[in-house]
Amino acid sequence: MILRLLAYLWAAPATALGMLAGALALLLGARVRRERGVLEFSGGELGQIISALPRPVAFAGITLGHVILGTTREALDELRDHEHVHVRQYERWGVFLLPAYLLSSCWQAARGRGFYSANRFEREAREASERPNA
Ligand SMILES: [Zn+2]
Repeated sequence: MILRLLAYLWAAPATALGMLAGALALLLGARVRRERGVLEFSGGELGQIISALPRPVAFAGITLGHVILGTTREALDELRDHEHVHVRQYERWGVFLLPAYLLSSCWQAARGRGFYSANRFEREAREASERPNA
């Protein structure tokens, strides 16, 4: 119980960013619900705008601390296991996950690998969410 509380506190700065993005999404018609201890925002005009972005920038879901933002509820249902691996990463790294994630992407890109696909945090999320009981 106390460890769970500490995990929420440690990730709180990133969660605050997620809440700001979520509040903006709500103003643009998104819906929010609580799922597995995380707030999920989905739908609305922001989701449509993000879906319409060019391929390298568009995304279906993003995690900021204990907040997951998805373009649609269906996208969240598909991505939930993957995004919850990122939630666990925030619980380990706290707000330092954001610069570490960016550094990992830049490091991989500098080595000629995929900025997103080769990122160590994305690889971990893909591998963990593809395992049963991840
Ligand atoms: Zn991911």
